[in-house]
Amino acid sequence: MVIGAGPAGLMAAETLASAGLAVTVIDHMPSPGRKLLIAGRGGLNLTHSEPLEAFLPRYGAVQARLEPAIRAFPPSALMAWAEGLGQPLFTGTSGRVFPKALKASPLLRAWLSRLAGQGVTLRGRHRWEGWDTEGGLRFTGPAGAVACRPAATLLALGGASWPRLGSDGLWTGLLPGVVPLRPSNCGFLHAWSDIFRQRFEGQPLKRIALEFRGRRVRGEAVVTASGLEGGAVYALSAPLRDEIAAEGGVTLRLDLRPDETPEALAARLDGPRGGLSLSNHLRRAGLAPIAIGLVQEALHGGAALPLSRLVKDIPLRLTAPAPIERAISTAGGVGWAEVDEHFMLRRRPGTFLAGEMLDWEAPTGGYLLQACFSTGRAAAQGIIDYLSS
Ligand SMILES: Cc1cc2nc3c(=O)[nH]c(=O)nc-3n(C[C@H](O)[C@H](O)[C@H](O)COP(=O)(O)OP(=O)(O)OC[C@H]3O[C@@H](n4cnc5c(N)ncnc54)[C@H](O)[C@@H]3O)c2cc1C
Repeated sequence: MVIGAGPAGLMAAETLASAGLAVTVIDHMPSPGRKLLIAGRGGLNLTHSEPLEAFLPRYGAVQARLEPAIRAFPPSALMAWAEGLGQPLFTGTSGRVFPKALKASPLLRAWLSRLAGQGVTLRGRHRWEGWDTEGGLRFTGPAGAVACRPAATLLALGGASWPRLGSDGLWTGLLPGVVPLRPSNCGFLHAWSDIFRQRFEGQPLKRIALEFRGRRVRGEAVVTASGLEGGAVYALSAPLRDEIAAEGGVTLRLDLRPDETPEALAARLDGPRGGLSLSNHLRRAGLAPIAIGLVQEALHGGAALPLSRLVKDIPLRLTAPAPIERAISTAGGVGWAEVDEHFMLRRRPGTFLAGEMLDWEAPTGGYLLQACFSTGRAAAQGIIDYLSS
C-alpha cells in the first residue's frame, strides 16, 4: 500500500506494480497529484541537465543519503521515463529540463492511465491517521474509520507547503523523529512603506542580483504586500531562513544594476542634478519606477549616498520567512536516523518513506521532483527486496 499520490508515491506504485505486486494507492484528496499539477503551472521543471557531480551537491548536508537513490534513477532515467509517457522534453538555457507541453496535466494523465493498466488501484478521500494497537493502518474515509494491514506500506505524504493541495504536514504528529517542517524556497517579510506597497505590490524586479553572506544570485524577484519572493530570493532562502531563526532578522543586499560598474553608474548618477527632482534624475538615468521607489525607500530608511553605490547595494531588512503555506517546498521531515539505507523506518519494519516528507531540501531547478521520483523508486525497491526476503 502506498499512501500519498504525489510524484514520490506514484513512482513507487509504478515500480511495485512493474515487479508484479498488487498495489493500492491511498490519498485523502479526491484526485491524485495535485501539487504536481501546480508545479506544472511554472512549466514543470522536472530535473536538471548538469552532470551528476554538480547535481548531487545541491542536496547539501544530506547528499550522501540521497545519492544512491539518485544514482540508481538519475536525471537521464527520469527524462527517458517522461519521454516514455509521450512527453517530449527540452532543456532551457539554464540547464533546467521541462516537458515541451510546459505543464503537468498531459504527463499525469498518461501516467495514471499506465498505472491503471498495471492494475494499480487508486483510492481518494481516505486520510491516513496512524497505526492501531495491532500495527494495522488506520484511515478515515467517507464511510468512517477503516483499518487494514498490507504486506508493506510506503508513506509519501509530502511536506507542508500549499496545504490545500493535500500535503498539510499533519502526519508529523504520527511519526517519531520528525525535524520540524520549515518553509524552503520561500519568500520573506519586509516592511514596505504604505506608499511603496500600494504602488508596486505584485511587480517584478527583473535582472537584479541579491547578495547574502557573500553569496550572490542573479535573477528576478517579485514585490509582495508583505515582502519579497521569486527565484532569486528562493535561491538564498535556506541561509536567510536559518540566519533569521538564529538572529531574529537579516539584511539582504539588492543590486538593481548588476551589469553596470559603480564607475559607470557614478558618471550618470552622482553629478549635479540641476533642477531635477530625485525621481526625475533617476528616471533620466534609466531606472524603472520600481527601482526608483526602492532607492527612495532606502533613503527614507536612512541609507547613505552616493546614489551610484546605493543603486548597487540597497539594504532590505528581512524579519521572517513568508508563511509555509506559500513556500515552494519544505525543509525538515522524518530524520535520517529513523530510516535505513532502503528508506525503511527502523522502528517499524515494513514501512518505507519517500519524497519531500524526508528531511532534505534543495533549491528550485528540478532538484525537488528529481529527489521525489528517485526516492519513490528506491523505497519501492526496498519494499520489493523486503517482501522477497
Ligand atoms: C507552486 C509550486 C511549484 C513547484 N514547481 C516545481 C518544479 O517546477 N520543479 C520541482 O522539482 N519541484 C517543484 N515543486 C515542488 C514539488 O511539487 C514537490 O517537491 C513534490 O510534489 C513533492 O512530492 P511528494 O510526492 O513528496 O509529495 P506531494 O506531491 O506533496 O504529495 C503528497 C500526497 O500525500 C497526500 N497526503 C498527505 N497527508 C496524507 C494523509 N494523512 N493521508 C492520505 N494522504 C495524505 C497529499 O494529499 C498528497 O497528494 C513545486 C511546488 C509548488 C508548491
